[in-house]
Amino acid sequence: MGSVFQDQDAAAPQIAIVGGGIVGVILALGLVRQNMSVRVYEQAAGFREVGAGIAFSACARRCMKLMNPAIVEALRRCGAVSVSDADDEDDYLRWIDGYNQHRADDPTYQKPLAQIGSAGFRGCRRDQFLEELAKDVPAEVISFGKRLEALEEREDGKVLLTFVDGTKAEADAVIGCDGVKSRVRRHLFGPTHESSHAQYTHKVAYRGLVAMDKAIQVLGEWKANNFHHHVGPGAHLTHYPVANHKMLNVVVFLSDPNPWSGSDQSSMVAEGTRAEVEAALGGWHPTVLSLVRLLPDKLVTWGLFDLGEFPAPTYTAGRVCLAGDAAHASSPHHGAGACLGVEDALCLSVLLGKVRETAASPGGNLDAALRAAFQTFDTLRRPRTQWLVNSSRRVCDLYHQSEWADPKRWVKAGTCFEEIRDRSYKIWHFDADDMVRRAVSMYKRKIIG
Ligand code: FAD
Repeated sequence: MGSVFQDQDAAAPQIAIVGGGIVGVILALGLVRQNMSVRVYEQAAGFREVGAGIAFSACARRCMKLMNPAIVEALRRCGAVSVSDADDEDDYLRWIDGYNQHRADDPTYQKPLAQIGSAGFRGCRRDQFLEELAKDVPAEVISFGKRLEALEEREDGKVLLTFVDGTKAEADAVIGCDGVKSRVRRHLFGPTHESSHAQYTHKVAYRGLVAMDKAIQVLGEWKANNFHHHVGPGAHLTHYPVANHKMLNVVVFLSDPNPWSGSDQSSMVAEGTRAEVEAALGGWHPTVLSLVRLLPDKLVTWGLFDLGEFPAPTYTAGRVCLAGDAAHASSPHHGAGACLGVEDALCLSVLLGKVRETAASPGGNLDAALRAAFQTFDTLRRPRTQWLVNSSRRVCDLYHQSEWADPKRWVKAGTCFEEIRDRSYKIWHFDADDMVRRAVSMYKRKIIG
């Protein structure tokens, strides 16, 4: 088993990333920029993402820029657009009463219940973003068709990776960016530990892309080109522009009191139909229903799973670490799961740069340095990211309040927006530069002892 790492510097740590999703690839690009030894092992045969939308806040884009400006450039190339009027002071996310209090001809329907800004979100298609990111990943850095089966931490300090195809690889450290069903997380805690398995949040999502000209016919030009949440009892619908304003990303979220109904319990998706979405939204505002009618007849029902009930007690053990959804899979109601994964990637790429410096210095101890880096990461990142998981559940419950259906309770329902604003600002106004400073100083204190 020869070394697959390219680094010239013998003391440099060899980092294996399991999972070539958005977070794994962005972390790899952060390490590549520092000329570090990195290898990504992805189970799929190629880069693979769904053709749905994703939005990144200004804070996440700041993290991307600090790691590697090529990441922000890839976002621009893939047609990411501001989800609201970012170029003027009108940069808001808006919440509308999507239920049936208003008739189609009622001009108050145009008036949002609340607007909260500014997040500086840019929306794009996931598949197009990953495709553009992939162009900057050197071919030798990524191995496809490598589904991780097991990890073994050897006495010599190396971590041995065994793949389902029977092949093996080794590295000085392994970072699990392998998503909500993470195999690396399962290795850390064991197959029977609660945190090894994500739980159903009792919400499902249906998503689709709609041609912008059709969306404009339903929503009007301005609303179609600006981010809106339509809220109501037991459901909400979110839409924002992507692909250079050529498409509208539409996601319908429904509350589901029942156990996950996916035919296969290990799968988080099931076959769905537009008819079931229309039935669930019976009585909603005609505009919402007209938008839903633009979705295809057949849809995928995405069961939303998270780690909210059994959060990971740690993100690291020894030379193995978790990041992104593998560490803190969240429901998507703040639109921030990937944004916080990008913050993780920045934190890890800075810390691993410091590990390399330590290892190359006289008497440098690679093992101690890697452990110090991962423990620093755990201390800094776990509270914020686990808060997000809880907060995402909370805001969805506020969007889905039964009070939206009761005219006597509308005022009460509307009091939720002050709380939603506070929660959103905690996510959007994160100081990434300060995180970097704190990470470096905490790491140094651990290394110096
Ligand atoms: P993943 O994207 O799940 O990637 C994991 C990768 O690991 C995959 O490529 C997989 O094939 C690979 N893998 C898995 N197991 C193995 C194995 N054993 N061996 C090798 N490879 C393996 N976030 C935002 O910030 N903004 C949004 O607007 C937003 N909208 C969302 C809307 C919806 C409906 C949903 C469901 C989520 C949304 N999110 C959003 C959250 C975001 O999608 C996730 O946080 C993000 O995709 C996580 O990226 P990741 O790289 O950690 O994991």
